[in-house]
Amino acid sequence: MTSPSPSPSHQPIVISGPSGVGKGTLIQKLFTTHPNTFALTVSHTTREPRPGEAEGVAYHFVSHDTFLSLISQNAFVEHALFSGNHYGTSKQTIMDQVAKGLIVVLDIEMHGVRQMRENSGSSSGVDARYVFIRPPSIEALEARLRGRGTEREEDIRKRLAQARRELEYAEQGVHDRVIVNDDLDRAYKELEEFVFGSTL
Ligand code: ADP
Ligand code: 5GP
Repeated sequence: MTSPSPSPSHQPIVISGPSGVGKGTLIQKLFTTHPNTFALTVSHTTREPRPGEAEGVAYHFVSHDTFLSLISQNAFVEHALFSGNHYGTSKQTIMDQVAKGLIVVLDIEMHGVRQMRENSGSSSGVDARYVFIRPPSIEALEARLRGRGTEREEDIRKRLAQARRELEYAEQGVHDRVIVNDDLDRAYKELEEFVFGSTL
């Protein structure tokens, strides 16, 4: 398929959903299917890199002290503590990716979504569109998290507990679209439709 022209609004797309639901998989498919269309923000995190995750590509991997120092410098658009680690989207990564003239995509958890929603009207706010990815069930989510094999048992439990809170938050209707990632190809089509709207 050829790449369609980007959505006329060029509004950033915020993708959220429980850990293990398939956000990364869907984002990867979007980027591969439509090259030179999207730019993913590179968050900062205090968690350890997984095998294959490169510095400055998957994340900026920083120490706890560096992260706190960045918070005190007001460097983040939003930041949150997730499963014992800090994660944040810097103003710099948004500026860098917007400068590429592509559609900016963020993959963040619920506290970040809430902060961005609250600040969207302010001068430093980001006017984005929000999509939530749901698992078909908690059991399916657990199977995916375990199947990915990247977290220790304790961390899987924390992520599942957080998943329930993410699902509750999504019940409040704060997202512009909710997509159930049951069948990957079907969910992907829905995401594509949301991202491109009527331009596809
Ligand atoms: P997230 O980025 O939301 O944490 P991932 O994209 O890493 O999640 O996906 C978690 C695991 O679930 C991966 O092993 C991925 O291959 C698998 N997965 C993703 N989507 C589906 C799906 N629709 N059905 C079954 N497995 C899936
Ligand atoms: P992971 O450790 O699996 O890469 O990410 C864990 C969670 O942190 C995911 O829900 C992901 O969306 C979220 N996340 C990643 N980067 C950021 C960020 O910059 N800000 C916030 N708030 N959440 C993030």
